[in-house]
Amino acid sequence: MMVVRTVAELRAALRPHRTAQHSIALVPTMGALHEGHLSLIRHARAHDGVVAVSLFLNPSQFNERSDLERYPRNERRDAALAEAAGADLLFAPSVEEVYPPGFATSVEVLGLTERFEGAARGSEHFRGVTTVVTKLLCMALPDVTYFGQKDAQQVVVIRRLVEDLNLPVRIEALPTVREPDGLAMSSRNALLSAEERHRALAIPAALDAARERVIAGERAASTLVEAGVARLHASGIEPEYVSLVDPDTLEPIDTLTGAGLLVLAARVGHVRLIDNAVLVPQGAPNPRRPLPGKALA
Ligand code: AMP
Repeated sequence: MMVVRTVAELRAALRPHRTAQHSIALVPTMGALHEGHLSLIRHARAHDGVVAVSLFLNPSQFNERSDLERYPRNERRDAALAEAAGADLLFAPSVEEVYPPGFATSVEVLGLTERFEGAARGSEHFRGVTTVVTKLLCMALPDVTYFGQKDAQQVVVIRRLVEDLNLPVRIEALPTVREPDGLAMSSRNALLSAEERHRALAIPAALDAARERVIAGERAASTLVEAGVARLHASGIEPEYVSLVDPDTLEPIDTLTGAGLLVLAARVGHVRLIDNAVLVPQGAPNPRRPLPGKALA
């Protein structure tokens, strides 16, 4: 695996692959790689001609300085894991390479970014994400870019961005990878104490509680949300939000008739965790894109 630090080196490394018409895949990450990231890299390895992984801890998407400061950083470890998962190229630019002096442009997706994570973390969070993703896409010019459905709102926002700006790239969302006990993998899990780690299991359990109500025939969004909230409360967790929304528009839904996306955020101790599940009532058409969660057959 080759490690490159500048846009010029990245483009030079990808040029022969573009000429040879290999499918170029990009997997954007902020490092602290875990099985969730590695599943994206492995998928790219299996489906594309050349796999570029970006490793950039993007300061502009952190609304809390302390969150950025305590974010785990270990490039050597990340590089070894990315290579073992099948990456051909690691693009690990400096902050100055991405935001050189005089940098003055931002990309903003309106509406979709104002709720859930946008409301909780402030407008700068998604502005930071959409600006850096646009830049990464322009730097690498990939054919396909893989994201995790773990960050479901991010996927919806990026699909909107790519469509609105006519960016010539396919966006694919891959299923959330979980620990054996159900907790969604996240770089932030390492910050949980043993007691918090145990209590955090209420988050996947809350999604399961709603899923079980769907299997039992419940279709009212308020009841499904209440089932999730009750499970969180039982573990002493007050959610920031639990909501059932349309998976494409993120608009709240009242009644589950097709696939619904149940989104959830909660702090466990000082650690903020997010998770989601797609709920599909029996007999409803399957979601048109691969999404996490089992179809409720
Ligand atoms: P991050 O480094 O947190 O920006 O994440 C990089 C990519 O990995 C994003 O597309 C995330 O959605 C994805 N990702 C993070 N956690 C998981 C997970 N548990 N399962 C699948 N993808 C994930």
